This record gives sequence, structure tokens and C-alpha cells, in this order.
Amino acid sequence: MVKDKVTGRLALKVDVDTLEGFCQGVPALLAVLEDHGVKASFFLALGADHSGRALLRIFRQRGFLEKMWRTRAPALYGVKTMLYGTLLPGPVIGAAAPGLAPRVAAAGHEVGLHGYNHVRWHDHLYHFSFDTVAREIAQAQETYTTLMKKPAYSFAAPGWQCSLSSRTALAAQHFLYASDTRGASPYFPAFGDTVTQVLEIPTTLPTLDELLGFQGCTARDFTSLVLARLEAGAPQVLTIHAEVEGGPFLNEFSRLLDRCQKRGVEFFRLEDWARELLKEPAALPVAQVNLRRLPGRAGRVACQGPLMGLPS
Ligand SMILES: [Zn+2]
Repeated sequence: MVKDKVTGRLALKVDVDTLEGFCQGVPALLAVLEDHGVKASFFLALGADHSGRALLRIFRQRGFLEKMWRTRAPALYGVKTMLYGTLLPGPVIGAAAPGLAPRVAAAGHEVGLHGYNHVRWHDHLYHFSFDTVAREIAQAQETYTTLMKKPAYSFAAPGWQCSLSSRTALAAQHFLYASDTRGASPYFPAFGDTVTQVLEIPTTLPTLDELLGFQGCTARDFTSLVLARLEAGAPQVLTIHAEVEGGPFLNEFSRLLDRCQKRGVEFFRLEDWARELLKEPAALPVAQVNLRRLPGRAGRVACQGPLMGLPS
């Protein structure tokens, strides 16, 4: 088959938040990615699945109930998942299928960390002391190292929540890069006057669960939006969820890959891009991190703010 000219470069960042996403969504995504010959970057939350506690956001976060309703959350996450950590004990995700993370890596995908207790990080990061956040990362790393026989190089913050403490802890624990924020292009994050030392590669595109049903957006419209953004030329990072694209929206995800491949889109892993970028770190800008609201997402997320120029 003769391909059209390459119309862009796309990294797939796969967030795995729950036990169900890990045990059911990850194998389903592996099969679809293999069919397409695409390599992705998986980020795993390996600690206790306390998804049920996320329901308490109904009382705290503007837009949470609306998003639950619009995305038919009980169908996406399953009733059991929605009770973990409240009426049912929260199972430990990494221990539930110890062979699975090595299988993801053996298939040629990147495997990084998506925190330890996803809900605890998402809901309480800004109240954590430095020691608490450092322990959360260390626990995730310890579990990862037990499963994979080596430490993780990369980290993606649960719910796009990051702080000066979390970035300082990642630097102290020698992570190569992180993907904690929403933004336009790679940078070193600054919090006020403090510039942090771990490279950030932000998610550049909206997610399917944010836009689906929002102002009538269909899965096909979403793919068209992704393709239009790719055509502009800059590499793009799309976050997908094992519970969403690896669940009820698996066929839509497969069709997204089909349409990308017909257009000659090249897929890359975030880790490979990070290593390339870090050959010349002085060429990368510094940018502030701001908390902002995004269309279709409840609460505020960490976003790339104004550039502050190149690091000195
Ligand atoms: Zn997540």
C-alpha cells in the first residue's frame, strides 16, 4: 500500500487508573496496537484502586456530575470499580496481574508510572507535604521495580495534578521526564521563581472522554479534530484511558488508528522523544505551570502557562 505523505507525528499516552482498566483494558489495547503495529507509552497506577472515593468529587468539583452523566461513567468504569475504597476494599492493582506490566514492555511499549493511589493523588496532592508526595512516588517505584526488575524512567501525574513538591520529588528520585500537564510543547516547569529540573512533555490534545457528547461531538468528530491538529505539523500527544478506549470505545480507538495510518501519521513513544530532547536541554524553554479549567473536564488541571525563555 502506498501511503500518503506523512501528515504528523503522534504519541499515545495510555493512562491506566483502575484494576479493571489494568486487567481488561490493557490487554484489549495491546491487541489493537499490535494489529496496527503501533507502539505507545503506558502509565500505570499500581497501588490500591480507590475509585469509589472519586465519587465524593460530586460534592467538591464543578462539572463532575455532568461529566459522569455525559460519559455514562457507570458503563465506562463498572459498578464494582465505583465502590472500591468505599463499600468494597480497594484491591492493589499491580499485584492483581503481576505478569501484565512486563508483557506490555515485551511488546515494545514504554511502561511508566501513573502514581500509586490514583484517587488520593488526584484529590489531595495540593494538601500533601513534600514527604507524603515523595513517599507516594517511592511506593509506586518500589512496586514497579518488583514487577519489572528495573525502575521506571517516566511518570504521568494522576488527573494532571502536579506541584512544586511533586516535581521536586521526581527530580530527587531521578526520573528522566514526566507528562503531568496539558500544554503545547516540551518545557521545564516553573512554579513562581523556582524552575524544576525534570523535563515535561505535556498532553497536547483534548481527550475523548472530555469531548464525547460535548456540544454533540461524536467519536468520528474527535478523530477529525486529532487529524486536523496533526496536520499543523508539531508533534502531538494524545492521552487515552485503559477504561475508555480500552473499554467501550475500543472500536472507535481502532478506527482512529486506521484513519491516522491512512494519512501516514507516524507514532512515537514519549521516552524516545525525551531522550532526543535531552541531548540538548539548553534549547528547551521554561514555562510556568498554572491550574486551569478545560472544556469537558471537572475541576482544574495543571497547564503549561506563559514561556519564560530558555534556561540560563
Ligand atoms: Zn489517570
